[in-house]
Amino acid sequence: MAEPARQGDKIRCDACPVMCYIAPGRAGACDRYANEDGNLVRVDPLVIIDKTIEAGGEVVPFLDKGPDWDGEIINPDDSFVTAIGAGTTYPDYKPAPFIVSRKVDGVDMITVVTEGIFSYCGVKVKIDTDRHLGPERSLVRVADEPVGHVTTAEYGSQMLSLGGVHHLTGGGKKEGRVTCQTMLDLCNGKAVEATIDEGSTIVIQAGAAPIVNGVREERMRVGCGSATVGMFASQWHGLVDEVVVVDDHITGVISEHQAGKVLNWQPTGIKINGRRSTPGRYFQVADPGTGWGGTNIDDPLTILGDFNPKFAKPGQSLLMVSTTGEQFAYYELDDDLKPVGRDMPARLMKSVGLIEENCEPALCTVLFMGGAGGSLRAGVTENPVKLTRSVKHALTRITCGGAPAYVWPGGGITIMSDVTQLPDNAFGYVPTPALVAPIEFTMRREDYEALGGHMKHVMLLEDARKGTRATQSDHVLAGQTSTHSKSGVPWPTERSHFGWSRKDGKP
Ligand code: SF4
Repeated sequence: MAEPARQGDKIRCDACPVMCYIAPGRAGACDRYANEDGNLVRVDPLVIIDKTIEAGGEVVPFLDKGPDWDGEIINPDDSFVTAIGAGTTYPDYKPAPFIVSRKVDGVDMITVVTEGIFSYCGVKVKIDTDRHLGPERSLVRVADEPVGHVTTAEYGSQMLSLGGVHHLTGGGKKEGRVTCQTMLDLCNGKAVEATIDEGSTIVIQAGAAPIVNGVREERMRVGCGSATVGMFASQWHGLVDEVVVVDDHITGVISEHQAGKVLNWQPTGIKINGRRSTPGRYFQVADPGTGWGGTNIDDPLTILGDFNPKFAKPGQSLLMVSTTGEQFAYYELDDDLKPVGRDMPARLMKSVGLIEENCEPALCTVLFMGGAGGSLRAGVTENPVKLTRSVKHALTRITCGGAPAYVWPGGGITIMSDVTQLPDNAFGYVPTPALVAPIEFTMRREDYEALGGHMKHVMLLEDARKGTRATQSDHVLAGQTSTHSKSGVPWPTERSHFGWSRKDGKP
């Protein structure tokens, strides 16, 4: 059994490069380890995902019960030891704190668990809104410190890239600290308020609606303006002479659009102030903003030029609507062919309602992204590159707190995980600064042996659940808690995750 170094009654935690000396009854700088009666204790409970219980099981202390605790009857197929609360071994060549074995469907499986310290990590944030949050490449700030930037927008969503090694290590001390705290809060499901240079103030929280400039976003747009015209053209046919769907990216005009042509829509002489891309599709009708369809306009008529008298007629009707259906206006042309606002006719309300109905709720999605292809691998194997190969060959499955991790193709092991799929408060930090994230590597025993695994440190799952300290660990665990995996999260050891379960050897 490894023992921590001591200085008087203080004990040294060497789970990260900070190497705190911790006095009795006190915690280390990250609050993850404490000195309890001379034991170095990982204070948060080890989280076990258990198929048989409801979420939020009780914490069972190990220290009180000790090795005599007989625990409950364990069916290994029903339990998965996550790395949450397992602790970290440092430096990296030391085997991970727990390497557990169990039979799954008759197959001898091994899971290596560790709370990885990620200096190279970030979060990717998808914010379902059309509203302009700030120009691409603008800095995102928290407490005035730069913590990331606005990156390429996606379909119906604005994207932020936050954290990363440059903000953690490349700026001032405060920048690193605030960046780490921002990532920690977002990964643990807390709300974070950020400001964007030349843009908005936004409150981000994983799984919750974004709040932009103090306004809670309700809906994600149904599509771009052109797509909206394409989707609902037949609903408008015969009810109105012209429809314009206002959008910052592609504004759609039904009489010119292919969807209108197919329905034999007649020309209306409308003129859009923007760059015509293809028939009925216009770019740059206004500047980006937080108004109609992610533009800066509150009055949609500002995007129209004069109607062409060759086609336009007095009394001609016009519906203008945004891509979420939240904004809409109805006009009729007067004798001078100028649009005049009128009450929205009941016959068109259904189609506007249909746009709203087809919009999904606006959410913030937070993906943790980290590099597990560096020294962390040495806690799994003496030959790190073999682990990388094993992951690429689908012999080793990576999970974060039991939740799936997408492994990027190419070199290294760069993973991404949806933070809402992990158990609550799965992430921690150390003041180097770096984020601490749970990571598990699961594989067959023979595959673990083949990649040069730390075989003599393998212990039975039952022993880990009883609180038995692994020989390579110098800390003890305060307790364990069982939780149900989140809805829709695949069971981490399911056979279908592994290449060997398929005829072609691929997952
Ligand atoms: S910061 Fe935390 S993990 Fe690092 S040495 Fe101190 S107590 Fe241990």
